[in-house]
Amino acid sequence: MRKKIIAGNWKMNSDIDFGVDFLQKITQIQPPSGVEVILGVPFISIYELSKVSDFVSIAAQNCHQKESGAFTGEISVNMLKSAGASHVILGHSERRQYFNEFDELILEKMSIALKAGLKVIYCCGEPLDQREAETHEAFVKSQLSDSILKLSEDQMKQVVIAYEPIWAIGTGKTASSSQAQDMHAFIRHLVKEEFGQSVGEELTILYGGSVKPANSEELFAQPDVDGGLVGGASLKTESFQQIIQSMKPV
Ligand code: PEP
Repeated sequence: MRKKIIAGNWKMNSDIDFGVDFLQKITQIQPPSGVEVILGVPFISIYELSKVSDFVSIAAQNCHQKESGAFTGEISVNMLKSAGASHVILGHSERRQYFNEFDELILEKMSIALKAGLKVIYCCGEPLDQREAETHEAFVKSQLSDSILKLSEDQMKQVVIAYEPIWAIGTGKTASSSQAQDMHAFIRHLVKEEFGQSVGEELTILYGGSVKPANSEELFAQPDVDGGLVGGASLKTESFQQIIQSMKPV
């Protein structure tokens, strides 16, 4: 059965004390059965936070594409593994926009992360002009064709996709539940075409973009929306808890 996930992305916010306190608070309430909770935290918090909770997995928000070497200031996948990360978020639109990350590089990062045994949350999504020109499907298709659709079937099984329309990230504008559902169904269809029916059916596809308690239940009720990648609202214990609780138990 397809895995349901609520993942938070703290971006460049929080310090270790904030993280420990946050995790102690949110782990007082168990998530609905069958729902996995993941938190994407700053590198420096991974080690400490990975020891706090049994049911919250810790994700890194980036990794380097090489195993090791003279890359001052960078973090390798083995460092992340040894610090306790189970996942890494790759291809986030902020990394694409501010750090010039492109799909070929993201593919390299995915490959090395998967080889190290990390699971990947791969982000894709169109900017506003593509949505307005109704070319959003073609845009997302080309992102996937240059990255995850080049993975092997075994690698693909370790990937979660997060569809995050850029115009909805941090803007307060959310895709409507039908816009989210249509794109998720389209992504699943592309994955089925490449890897077969069962890999596509098993693929977890998260929606991201201004998810909050007021819209999460409706978004998560869509048949192809398997949870969320949550930015701003994942930094407040109350709203993150409400979002987790708005998932239906499996
Ligand atoms: C994100 O950072 O992935 C995100 C979706 O942010 P927000 O929920 O704040 O729009």
